[in-house]
Amino acid sequence: MGAGIGGLVLALALRDVGLESDVYEAATELREVGAGLQMSPNASRVLRHLGLQEDLDRIAVRPLTGDLRRWQDGSILTSQPLGDEVAQQFGAPYLHLHRNDLHTVLRKRLGPERVSLGRRCSGIIESGSSVRLAFEDGSTVDADVVIGADGIHSAVRTALQGPQSARFSRAAAWRGLVPAELVADLNLAVCSTATLGPGAHFVHYFVSAGRFVNWVGVAPTDTWTDESWSAPGKLDEALADFEGWNPMVIRLIEAMSGSTVYRWAMYDRDPLPVWGEGAVTLLGDACHPMLPYMAQGAAQAIEDAAVLAGVLAQVDDLTAGLRHYERLRRERTAKVQLAARANEQTFHLPDGPEQRARDQRFADAPATHRNAWLFDYDAVAVGRAPVTR
Ligand SMILES: Cc1cc2nc3c(=O)[nH]c(=O)nc-3n(C[C@H](O)[C@H](O)[C@H](O)COP(=O)(O)OP(=O)(O)OC[C@H]3O[C@@H](n4cnc5c(N)ncnc54)[C@H](O)[C@@H]3O)c2cc1C
Repeated sequence: MGAGIGGLVLALALRDVGLESDVYEAATELREVGAGLQMSPNASRVLRHLGLQEDLDRIAVRPLTGDLRRWQDGSILTSQPLGDEVAQQFGAPYLHLHRNDLHTVLRKRLGPERVSLGRRCSGIIESGSSVRLAFEDGSTVDADVVIGADGIHSAVRTALQGPQSARFSRAAAWRGLVPAELVADLNLAVCSTATLGPGAHFVHYFVSAGRFVNWVGVAPTDTWTDESWSAPGKLDEALADFEGWNPMVIRLIEAMSGSTVYRWAMYDRDPLPVWGEGAVTLLGDACHPMLPYMAQGAAQAIEDAAVLAGVLAQVDDLTAGLRHYERLRRERTAKVQLAARANEQTFHLPDGPEQRARDQRFADAPATHRNAWLFDYDAVAVGRAPVTR
């Protein structure tokens, strides 16, 4: 259920192990938001396994380093390798992608025939060994198993567990996509840059084979009435949120002049103790929505997909397979959710002794990559490991 990045990768991963699936998507047209996505080796390894490397090479940018900078003067606090060194160490590259480019690659590879558009799931009824899905248009479908990859407001999760509000983190992210030629004079390095300041941070990197610079500016806000995400905002407000920041940040925001800037409310949830029940389970943001401060939400959905497909390929009892998948995935995804929350504190420290201690820790960081524990996870191997109870 759901043709986001998680649902489409799951359909491809299931096909890879010889299982066909149908994807039901609420939207009447398939597309992703116009924004960037960082794809770490733990996720790009899965996409590569699915035979997508060549397609990705056409659309991706491979950053050389991941840099943290200081808000006022843009000075580098720490820089870690993300280029060839990381690709060699972890056996898969770190990529920067335009979300819609990736979504296009995934849906072309899957083909339109397995995706049903305009089918908004409104409920599920389990009856013995099969599950009946109900849609808002009044139609129903019977399935052996149902996987809710339907995002943070998952209807499948609500059907299983009742409505639960997501946690608003009192921050919102401005997002911009700037044609690279408009900011050519900045001579931006090909890297992932997060600039840290009091209560806010600003991330930028190239996407679409270098044609655009994607930026995300997270700043505090007390007012957000709509749990659902994004709303157009005013450029002046974005500039006000980053007043006094170094000229690179200001120029990237100003370069959106004349275009619509969108603002996304930052929501997450506590780790869920239970994901599924019977022949139903969840995947991606439906079960572990997280703040984007580890750049891992889509990556974890992709890992889920590879693990779930690997498990289902081995089992006769699909329900037992779903429980095994949940056991394999719950702890890791909870750890990433909580790490993203912790980064909210770390990134947004006000200037002062704690911030100076943080910056010193960054400066003293060992050469080993701080996210090695994330990058070296091989989801395909985890899913293929023999299923034990
Ligand atoms: C500012 C920002 C920056 C981010 N940066 C990164 C990053 O760099 N790297 C990274 O890995 N992640 C990043 N993320 C997180 C990432 O975007 C999400 O975790 C990821 O898109 C989740 O994918 P999904 O398929 O689980 O859910 P979604 O993308 O939400 O897809 C769910 C799909 O289900 C459909 N749907 C919803 N309800 C129903 C229903 N009732 N019936 C049928 N279909 C339904 C929706 O229309 C949608 O197509 C970022 C997020 C934000 C907000």
